[in-house]
Amino acid sequence: METALAPPDGSPNPKVTNAVPREAVESWEREWLAPGGTRSVGAGNRDRSEAPDPLRTAFQRDRDRIIHSTAFRRLKHKTQVFIAPDGDHYRTRLTHTLEVAQIARTIARALRLNEDLAEAIALGHDLGHTPFGHLGEDVIRDVMSIEYHHAAQSVRVVEVLERRPHGLNLTLEVRDGISNSSWNRGLPSTHEAFVVRYADRIAYLNHDVDDAIRAGLLSEDELPLSVARSLGSDSSERITSLVSDVVATSDVTGPCGEAGGVVMSRPTFEVMDELRSFMFERIYLGPPVARDMGVARRVLTCLLEQFRSAPVGAPEGLPADAGVPGDALDRRVIDYVASMTDRFAIRTYERLTGRTADLPSV
Ligand code: MG
Repeated sequence: METALAPPDGSPNPKVTNAVPREAVESWEREWLAPGGTRSVGAGNRDRSEAPDPLRTAFQRDRDRIIHSTAFRRLKHKTQVFIAPDGDHYRTRLTHTLEVAQIARTIARALRLNEDLAEAIALGHDLGHTPFGHLGEDVIRDVMSIEYHHAAQSVRVVEVLERRPHGLNLTLEVRDGISNSSWNRGLPSTHEAFVVRYADRIAYLNHDVDDAIRAGLLSEDELPLSVARSLGSDSSERITSLVSDVVATSDVTGPCGEAGGVVMSRPTFEVMDELRSFMFERIYLGPPVARDMGVARRVLTCLLEQFRSAPVGAPEGLPADAGVPGDALDRRVIDYVASMTDRFAIRTYERLTGRTADLPSV
């Protein structure tokens, strides 16, 4: 078989004959994926039709469009749990997203589901997160009196705000998975999207424990006893236990929505839930985050109110190209502020008020 290695004499590469065209991957998917796995077909189900790619399946293309988006790059400066932490080892929304994608791919491959679809959904699932994480979401809800949800905003990012005004033109399956990636949203329509729901929870619970220990807010022996006993005594063991349980318990031999599906066993789910309740009490709703809430509220309330009242395009107002020009002002303000990174929100606040944001140090 010929390869794509360059010949030593520096002459052009020989013709690559072992390339796998998209059709071959699709035919492999038809044979190899579990009966309930989602097959990619041609250019995929898209709002605007386009020609199929010669090499990549529809879901590979969606994954690549998400990775190349500006919203994806901004995730590196958005809060996971701690606002703009000083330490280099804390998770950000970007590293959270990558950990979700890793876990989702592991589960998808083990279950013979479509790994590319699971990866695309995972990489896109948090694109609509505000600066300062869930705290920012709460402030937008309060100040703007709307039902803001980051999953719905993630869909808006890929459908409208990236490559305005037409969006990334992703497949229906990827948008459905992003839209329903949170457990308090509707049920998604593919097994791969259910995989991402589990992967998201498995990822954040474990890396947030890890970061809370790093910040000195927790120690391993304070976790509920059942967690160490059933899942393991460190993050790596716990992730392995949770992932293995999903793989062992799920049944994807039928279409999504029928009996079985991607599930976790009841006893393991209960232990994971106990860990989640513990994290809410100690960290997510605990004193450290209450302290951060002061910063998030001060900064975002100022920005939202300022942009609603100052003339669009003025130095102290909403930039003329923010959001989608032509949309209602409130919609544009929400799109603009929600898209900000923590550090851009803080810089903008400091520029507009002449005051420092007084960040907590983690
Ligand atoms: Mg997430």
